[in-house]
Amino acid sequence: MSSSEIYDLIIIGGGPGGLTAGIYAMRAALKTALIELGAPGGQMNNSDSVENWPGDEHIGGAELAMKFSQHAQSYGLDVISQEVVELKPGLDVHTVKLANGDSLMAHAVILATGGSPRKLQIPGEEEYYGKGVSYCGVCDGFFFRDKTIVAVGGGDTAVEESLYLAKLAKQVYLVHRRDALRASALLQQRAMAECKIEILWNSVVTEIKANDNGVYAVDLKNTQTGEKSIQTTDGVFIFIGFDPNNKLVPAGTKMNADGYVVTDEKCETNAPGIFVIGDLREKYFRQIVISASDGATAALAAAHFVETRKSAEVCELPEALQTEAS
Ligand code: NAP
Repeated sequence: MSSSEIYDLIIIGGGPGGLTAGIYAMRAALKTALIELGAPGGQMNNSDSVENWPGDEHIGGAELAMKFSQHAQSYGLDVISQEVVELKPGLDVHTVKLANGDSLMAHAVILATGGSPRKLQIPGEEEYYGKGVSYCGVCDGFFFRDKTIVAVGGGDTAVEESLYLAKLAKQVYLVHRRDALRASALLQQRAMAECKIEILWNSVVTEIKANDNGVYAVDLKNTQTGEKSIQTTDGVFIFIGFDPNNKLVPAGTKMNADGYVVTDEKCETNAPGIFVIGDLREKYFRQIVISASDGATAALAAAHFVETRKSAEVCELPEALQTEAS
């Protein structure tokens, strides 16, 4: 393969981190491809309203995702709609294998595959997924207009999504396993002020029950007393965090115990030229702005990496020519 057919950079994943990396890479004149199977924007598309993206007091997640994508593509970013099945690190170039059998090569790769919703792993969850069980209020809330909903979790996502669902539903029961929410103080205040949200403290859902018409109840257990109860509901929305999408992370890459990739401050892994950004990277906070920041950092670092690699190749050239000439 001639070097002209090798990308400088391949970005895997088109969320806020991947798209920001695309913007910075194109502006740094890197020959770049971004590979994303789903809609550009990733999890942003599931946010009803984003209120902490600087410069926009309120913006719909899908609208923000579209703006990111349009911005990146305005520089001519090559967006490939395919599934990546393997990332094979190499000494000089890395190989990205696609589900359609094609292989692409690049000097540097940025992995930006994010995470997926964590499962409760209780009876009824898998069976009734899409039939009353959901992990996305913005996607499925519409189907529960004026109905009763059980939401599970106590973090920012659970509270934010419960507030969204309360706009549509008759009643939202937020089931949380402890006696205090993990969500930010502002979200907690909003939840407390929303009369359609009732928090069922110190409780876990142990089973989701359904009949031919869909979900009708959940079994609950009190985590303090062990007392069992039944809550009738039309749907169950599960928001208990997410797990990193790390199946493309090459063997030998440093990860923490939870499966998040450990990088240096340039977002580079222990494999030279392979960068990891956004929700897949070990970090304390997971926010759009933080993923975008990772994307900028990794693209600038990748530009430096590629430039150094190419200048090393140029330095080697005279020696090769000398050999040829002799
Ligand atoms: P999270 O912060 O990890 O919260 C997960 C929640 O689910 C916790 O309350 C946890 O309970 C509960 N939980 C976990 N496993 C459970 C289980 N097996 N059974 C019952 N409950 C369980 O996850 P997240 O809310 O998805 O947020 C992820 C990240 O995104 C966070 O950094 C968050 O700040 C950020 N985020 C920010 C915004 C925003 O700023 N607008 C919106 C959404 C998300 P415990 O509290 O007892 O551990």
